[in-house]
Amino acid sequence: MQENVPHADRGEADGETIPHWHDPKSEGMTIVEGEDATVYDDEGNAYLDFVSQLYCTNAGHSNEAITDAMTAQMERIPYVSSAKGNDVRDALAADLAEIAPGSLSEVYFSISGSEANESAAQIARTVQDAPKVLTRWQSYHGGTAGAGALTGDPSTRSTVGRYAATTGSGKFLPPLPTAFDADSPEDLAEQAADHVEFVIRNEGADSVAAIMMEPVGGSSGGYPAPPGYFERLREICDEYDVLLIADEVITGFGRCGDWFGIDTEDVEPDMITFAKGVTSAYAPLAGVIADDWIGETVREEGYDLGQTFAGHPVACAAGRAAIDEYESHLIDDVRELTPVLESRLKELEDAHDAVRTVRGRGFLWSVVFADPETGEPFVHPWAADADEDEENPVAAVREAAADRGVIFGSGRPDVQVLISPPLCTTRDELERGIDALDAAIEETFE
Ligand code: PLP
Repeated sequence: MQENVPHADRGEADGETIPHWHDPKSEGMTIVEGEDATVYDDEGNAYLDFVSQLYCTNAGHSNEAITDAMTAQMERIPYVSSAKGNDVRDALAADLAEIAPGSLSEVYFSISGSEANESAAQIARTVQDAPKVLTRWQSYHGGTAGAGALTGDPSTRSTVGRYAATTGSGKFLPPLPTAFDADSPEDLAEQAADHVEFVIRNEGADSVAAIMMEPVGGSSGGYPAPPGYFERLREICDEYDVLLIADEVITGFGRCGDWFGIDTEDVEPDMITFAKGVTSAYAPLAGVIADDWIGETVREEGYDLGQTFAGHPVACAAGRAAIDEYESHLIDDVRELTPVLESRLKELEDAHDAVRTVRGRGFLWSVVFADPETGEPFVHPWAADADEDEENPVAAVREAAADRGVIFGSGRPDVQVLISPPLCTTRDELERGIDALDAAIEETFE
């Protein structure tokens, strides 16, 4: 791999010369090409893409099966009204019903993950005749007004979400060790689930339509739930007649080693929301997969959340081809390589005092940092207004890794590097990516 130009020496970073749509954390990086797990910037530097851009190019970059299917659909008919029938849209809905757990088979297409979550919340409110959808503190569910109100992380909640009517969007704590004083993962599961029950009862169970959460925290922390948590939540939801919605915008489509993150929990939600990986991000597409009975009720009540580009045929063609890719080998590949990724990450935990813990599932992991001298977290995980920039070492680690040709993500609440490579990443590439992270941590802390 060629030696990359040090990040700091690249481009202007004063905010005046960088267009407003650039993430300030990727100053100077303009990505222009990609192949499999690698992307190239406009100066010819190659990077292993260990964040799949925004946790979405699950099938890698330039997958020919997907681009061919999109081209063929463009040549047949690029767009059909979302109010009319279309064969490829219907076929994708059938594919999604096939891979979704249990009796989830009613598909409502939208365009972005934010809109999918808004749709799921509105469907829940309609069928339950109740106003509230409860979500986790520190969660991210999208940037539109309604999804912003569902988002529980003040630092990523969009301005529009912050000021949108938050009626009907109460919050509860996630099942993280930093949020509870638990003796074991099982104890944590019990305390965190009891807390959800407490919040439902305090809100008034009759007023709560649903609870929504990611099966494995994505940008909100890269963490799986402790064992038994989801089973207990399912019992609580059944007892209080509250729907369970799994936000699978990041965790779906093989990311965690199954079709959906919730599959691993052996629990059937009432609705799944999806986006990103459904087309491997080759075209914008998202939606909700709801239980049969919800579909019947919605049909009686009428569904008026339709959007012009929802279920766009070219995106649906991409989705069908991506699902074929996941089914034919990519999910199996993730399962085979997960132990390699896990054991390499555990080595980092052993090797660096600054690494407090590593956690994750499949190809979605986080490396959580702590002050190597004291073992204390850099930022109090629940201090919503903490000035992270001063102490947060994640930017320096990511920059040092980018200088070694690997792009990582970052997450909250407890300061971490996020790892989410395309599912086509090879064993050799995984090893190289973690070697680069190892060296970046060394450079930042030692
Ligand atoms: N839900 C989760 C868990 C996400 O991570 C995101 C985006 O990152 C969204 C919803 C919103 O999706 P979109 O950006 O497509 O609107």
